[in-house]
Amino acid sequence: MAATVPETTGPGAPGPYDEEHSLFREALRDFVEREVRPNVEDWERARTTPRELIRRLGELGFLGATLAPEHGGAGGDFWYTAILVEELVAAGSIGTTVSVLAHAEFAIKEIDHHGTEAQKREFLEPAVAGSKIGALAVTEPGAGSDVAALATRAVREGDELVLNGSKTFISNAGLCDFATVAARTGGPGHEGISLILVPADAPGFARGRRLEKIGTHASDTGELFFENCRVPAANILGPENGGFRLIVHGFEGERLVLALMCCRHMRVMWDEARRYGLEREAFGSPILGFQAWRHRLADALTTIEAAQALAYRAVDLYVRGEPCDKEISMAKLFAAESAIVVGRECAQIFGGYGYMEEYPIARLFRDTLAFTVGAGTSEVMREIIARRAGLLPGART
Ligand SMILES: Cc1cc2nc3c(=O)[nH]c(=O)nc-3n(C[C@H](O)[C@H](O)[C@H](O)COP(=O)(O)OP(=O)(O)OC[C@H]3O[C@@H](n4cnc5c(N)ncnc54)[C@H](O)[C@@H]3O)c2cc1C
Repeated sequence: MAATVPETTGPGAPGPYDEEHSLFREALRDFVEREVRPNVEDWERARTTPRELIRRLGELGFLGATLAPEHGGAGGDFWYTAILVEELVAAGSIGTTVSVLAHAEFAIKEIDHHGTEAQKREFLEPAVAGSKIGALAVTEPGAGSDVAALATRAVREGDELVLNGSKTFISNAGLCDFATVAARTGGPGHEGISLILVPADAPGFARGRRLEKIGTHASDTGELFFENCRVPAANILGPENGGFRLIVHGFEGERLVLALMCCRHMRVMWDEARRYGLEREAFGSPILGFQAWRHRLADALTTIEAAQALAYRAVDLYVRGEPCDKEISMAKLFAAESAIVVGRECAQIFGGYGYMEEYPIARLFRDTLAFTVGAGTSEVMREIIARRAGLLPGART
């Protein structure tokens, strides 16, 4: 009898993980089953993920797995982040996953890489412990994909920086205790941008509207304002005017997170569709008794496996320190675009119930629409791939 090759995407699938990773996954899965899955629907309705979840994840050591041991982390590789994403998504809420990862990956990764000892003590250590929540604030009302056009300005006054400007679409805007803010400290273009750590209790820091989204409801998304907001100049993260490079580096991790999120989310939707297709009957047959539907879900599973293989390949290159922005962009592009197609198939098999809020598939499908925008749009991903593939006339690859 031929040996069965395990799928890479299923809940029990090994993936490219070693024993230590598996132990981390088991402990996390146990926590998620007890403390996340039973609450997902409530958090979706409440339109936020509670601070308490991030505190508990920190307390149990799930937030710092990839961060430096000297500051509360465990020094692990990015596969631990992949596990964090996969297990949270498996509980059925992209909103909650975004909230946790906006904190644990987007807001603090560059502090781990580039922060001073004082910055790590003030921001990174409590973030790893889950006692302070972070947000990454790059996007502005007038500048999203074109980060180099951002207008929030930070001007030096003695030992302080004075920030003026606004940010929008910020995950954890309502929850955050600090934000890692991209602001202009120099001239125009990408060379005049710095990342600045701004505590939420700094004078002049204000939260604006909480934004009503069409999906990912358990993630709190909103605006931030800086009105003569004062922070110590020592809060610049990395080199002054060198923030763009940090942002671009941070994007790599964020895009991998998004790609991995899409893959597991597709699998969650596919499992729902399979279960329903085996149970629901029409014309005296389960829906999956119709070859048309077996083939559609077979196509969907093939797409999921292809997306997962691309995502794992990109993570592997990233972990090995290889240049991989093309592969990361491909993984994010393919997974995000596929999630919408797979989600539509998985909702369609539910017929009318796929359009009703009482079935999770409606929400799961709706949530896929965020993937082609967050952490860089599909068009931006294509542009990076095109540039790296030598498709841009006159540009270096
Ligand atoms: C749910 C959610 C959570 C988010 N969380 C955060 C967060 O925590 N922190 C944060 O800083 N930001 C966050 N964002 C913002 C996100 O990163 C931006 O929405 C995204 O980068 C796109 O920017 P934009 O919305 O301004 O669109 P724009 O840049 O205005 O783009 C509009 C359209 O034009 C296209 N376009 C732009 N440039 C080109 C080009 N060169 N070629 C072809 N097409 C182009 C885009 O692809 C898009 O389709 C979040 C967004 C969402 C939806």
